[in-house]
Amino acid sequence: MNLLTWFDPWRSPLCTCPPKLTFNPYTGCDHRCIYCYATSYIRRFYECRPKKDLISRLKREAAKLKGELVSMSNSSDPYPTIEAETGLTRRCLQVLAECNCRIQIITKSNIVLRDLDILKRMPSMVALTITTDDAETARILEPYAPPPAERLKTAEKLLAEGIPVAVRIDPVIPYVNENPESLVKALADIGVPQITASTYKVRMDNWQRMSLAMPKVAEKLKPLYFEKGEKMARYIYLPKDLRLRLLENLAKLAKKYGLKFAVCREGLKGLNTATCDGSWLIKEKS
Ligand code: SF4
Repeated sequence: MNLLTWFDPWRSPLCTCPPKLTFNPYTGCDHRCIYCYATSYIRRFYECRPKKDLISRLKREAAKLKGELVSMSNSSDPYPTIEAETGLTRRCLQVLAECNCRIQIITKSNIVLRDLDILKRMPSMVALTITTDDAETARILEPYAPPPAERLKTAEKLLAEGIPVAVRIDPVIPYVNENPESLVKALADIGVPQITASTYKVRMDNWQRMSLAMPKVAEKLKPLYFEKGEKMARYIYLPKDLRLRLLENLAKLAKKYGLKFAVCREGLKGLNTATCDGSWLIKEKS
């Protein structure tokens, strides 16, 4: 099986991403986010392990690239905690930097800053997920990912070094992070040009973790998902009118603070003022 494959999230009719390749240096992820969707289709997901023969396979496949966008990563984080020791994503980026491609990093980690030197050499951007600016909420939702203040500093440093950044507020969960005005303002203050948002979707395993970690919230969410929610593309979504309200609120905040806005897999692309994944921010290198 190839390492570089066309991004096609379960053929979801709701995905509005431009054509791109997806590449996961690791199987699984050790950030252990309670809402993680990938745990439902990858075994032992939180036991993060590198892909077999990673570098030699990547060299073979990347040599054939013809300027495609390569997105790292969509079923894991390319900067799990163990990357600080293994340096495997760094070695992958070194390989890709010698080939004909553009790079999109999707991460929650400040380890990405270690690889600034390589990202600056190639057409690249970073989609940084900051679900909330509340440290305690983030600790519950994303127990092993860097705290939000670290991620804000990461966005600021990337931008200062000329690497475009879009921030994903994902997932938006009612009663948890539905009014992120202070976060949007902080992002605008450091010059982030775009936010992309997506509401929490239920899969049975992430629901079990949510119920254990946030029982009072889960009690309030239960009727919204299991009585009024709608099943789409293998997930249970919030009812459409509620999703529209939550995401319109975010679109208004983005407008108020001068940021572009997009939604991810919501079927509400009328709210978008930019390409959903932020890849339009990538600058060609001369
Ligand atoms: S960072 Fe992403 S892939 Fe890793 S556990 Fe969290 S949601 Fe899952």
